[in-house]
Amino acid sequence: MILKRLRSTPVPGTRDSYTGVDFNLGFHVRHYDLDLTYRVDPNRLEGTATLRIENWRDLPGLTLDLQQNMVARRVVARGSAGINVKVAKFKQSGGKLRITFAEPIPVDTEFTLTIYYGGNPRPRRTTWGDIGWEELDNGSLVASQPNGAPTWFPCDDTPDEKASYKIRISADDPYVVISNGQLVDKQSGGSRTTWTYETPFQMASYLATIQVGEYIRIDLGRNTHAWVTPEHATEARVAFRDQQEMLDFYEGLFGDYPFSDYTVVVTDDELEIPLEAQGLSIFGVNHLEGWERLIAHELSHQWFGNSLGVAQWDDIWLNEGFACYCEWLWFEYTGTPVQINVDKEYEALQRKPQNIIVGAPGPKDMFDDRVYKRGAITLHALRVLLGDQAFFAAVRRYVGSGRHSVVEPVDLKRELYEAARSVSVEPSLIDDTLHAWLFLPELPECPQ
Ligand SMILES: [Zn+2]
Repeated sequence: MILKRLRSTPVPGTRDSYTGVDFNLGFHVRHYDLDLTYRVDPNRLEGTATLRIENWRDLPGLTLDLQQNMVARRVVARGSAGINVKVAKFKQSGGKLRITFAEPIPVDTEFTLTIYYGGNPRPRRTTWGDIGWEELDNGSLVASQPNGAPTWFPCDDTPDEKASYKIRISADDPYVVISNGQLVDKQSGGSRTTWTYETPFQMASYLATIQVGEYIRIDLGRNTHAWVTPEHATEARVAFRDQQEMLDFYEGLFGDYPFSDYTVVVTDDELEIPLEAQGLSIFGVNHLEGWERLIAHELSHQWFGNSLGVAQWDDIWLNEGFACYCEWLWFEYTGTPVQINVDKEYEALQRKPQNIIVGAPGPKDMFDDRVYKRGAITLHALRVLLGDQAFFAAVRRYVGSGRHSVVEPVDLKRELYEAARSVSVEPSLIDDTLHAWLFLPELPECPQ
């Protein structure tokens, strides 16, 4: 698969202004092969990570993101086609694994780095709460948005760097391990089982996940299923009864489901919010009643956020505005006009401070509810401006051209301009709408 050229090429010496993490420069990880062993009770993770890398400048060394408590013990480099690459030294500091090569690796070399590491994985504490690998009462989960991936594997942890993955993990019986993509192999031996998952679809590191628990699988439809503890299987069947119909509904609007199938995991623990990963979503047992909107929301992230990834966190509204609007579209389909939700949330926004720039909210407010709701109403304003046919045709083209890639607002705008021209709407009105809703603090008029 050809990866669309990544556009947010960072300038040396700069860092992600949301996560505060320095960019890892000069190379791209094409593929991650993670070979993991996990012991649930001591919460011990041992790993061998092999990263297939190509570089677009001479590399005397490189950095990867890896939490300090996951200790790298050995790092081995192998060059392709007779190119000799060798690791001279490596060290861990400041959340980075810093690798120095014996000789600089010439530009455009394909090589692999194998990192042998291990530790007791734990979440990182951030402005947004605990992120990454987290122990449950019985098992563990991984929910990494935006920068939790280095809590369990060495990676280039920035949303615009997508790669394919193979994740093999061995865990104690009777635990089930769920990860991204297709289960391609399952081997039992002794008191352990090894699960191998593969995802050929490009994936951002924050969307890579591992779920460990005493789960059973229940089918929810043609290409969707849930993993849940036996005690909550009946409730889960009820809560997710419309999952297949939702999936079919979104396919009708946005084009084919981007991945092979859709999985939900319901943990026995309560979770503050459900969380999306690529090809799957994680819900807490507390979401089994009254949370239809979140079931729709998380599913829609498979198109908006996962297949179409953001290039930088400034654009988080492209994920959350669409996912929130998808909730309302589902309710429209089941009988509640979108306008009712728009009016309700507009009124709620009027009661909140109007001091957020939705199009670049900054780290503190990146998950603020106003990004979600105002982002969604922005889309409604565009729909009202263009009419249903032109608006949804534009969204379908946007989803199609950004599939398994990264997108920026300009990609959506391009399709909106075309839609405007097709219905004789002045394209500058697209700019005006986006500017007023996303880049000015005051609430514009409610779109009707
Ligand atoms: Zn969301």
